[in-house]
Amino acid sequence: MKNFSNFKKADRIIYVYSGKGGVGKSTVSVNIAFTFLNLGYKVGLFDADLSTPSIPTLVKGVKFTDQYMHKNLVMPAKYKGLLYSSTGNLGETTDGSFLSGQYLKGALYQLFFGISWDVDILIIDMPPGTTDLHTNLFYNLEGDILFVTTPHSTSHEDLIRSAALIERFNLNVIGVIENMSYVNCTNCEKQIPLHNGQNLDFNYNNKSYKILSSLPFDAELSYLSSIGVPYMFDKNKVNNHTYLKYMFIASEILKGVK
Ligand code: ADP
Repeated sequence: MKNFSNFKKADRIIYVYSGKGGVGKSTVSVNIAFTFLNLGYKVGLFDADLSTPSIPTLVKGVKFTDQYMHKNLVMPAKYKGLLYSSTGNLGETTDGSFLSGQYLKGALYQLFFGISWDVDILIIDMPPGTTDLHTNLFYNLEGDILFVTTPHSTSHEDLIRSAALIERFNLNVIGVIENMSYVNCTNCEKQIPLHNGQNLDFNYNNKSYKILSSLPFDAELSYLSSIGVPYMFDKNKVNNHTYLKYMFIASEILKGVK
């Protein structure tokens, strides 16, 4: 596949990754993408979860131009400058999607590798697990890893498995986002920890992985996600706690831009 991957992708590629499902990778991917768009960057978003894509659900409140075929490639959709590709745009949820082996490689090529994205920042929303798809992407495409976890040992164990996989590749880890970590009390100033409130920084193979930021469980974000509106799409939220957290994460990511 390396032969096909020499089209211009992005100045910066960020994998949003965790071994565990349901920890908020897609939610973080969409909201980071819109944070960078708000900051004026050209942004792409690739939904690498080819069999259970979430991104079209999370952005269905906004109208995307349909993805279309060009030669053998599925060109990304465009929305307000966001280039975006997902198998979820290509069929109904009820169609299902079962890809393996060569079909998986073909789909990756059609949806991603064969296309010149040509953006400043490309966010890749990774599926959970440590599969062939992960190996294909990590081997072919250098990028930085943004881990997402909840502060719970089950998710943390899978994070360590993910760290073991990415050790095999030339990938820089930006840090760990601890998602759905606490709730902001509406009656007092306190942050109430969810789960057990432990600090889940960790070391693997002499490397230390630090929590870059902890994000709250935000009921409004959850509601907006359920109706397909990205939280960071709404500029009225500029002073909100979650909005400021995303701005902080974006600024930390940008520190590494050459
Ligand atoms: P993953 O991509 O890791 O499988 P999702 O992004 O689909 O996880 O998130 C799983 C569920 O958690 C979704 O219902 C999503 O709306 C919700 N969620 C994720 N992050 C938050 C958050 N910070 N506050 C509230 N709900 C969240």
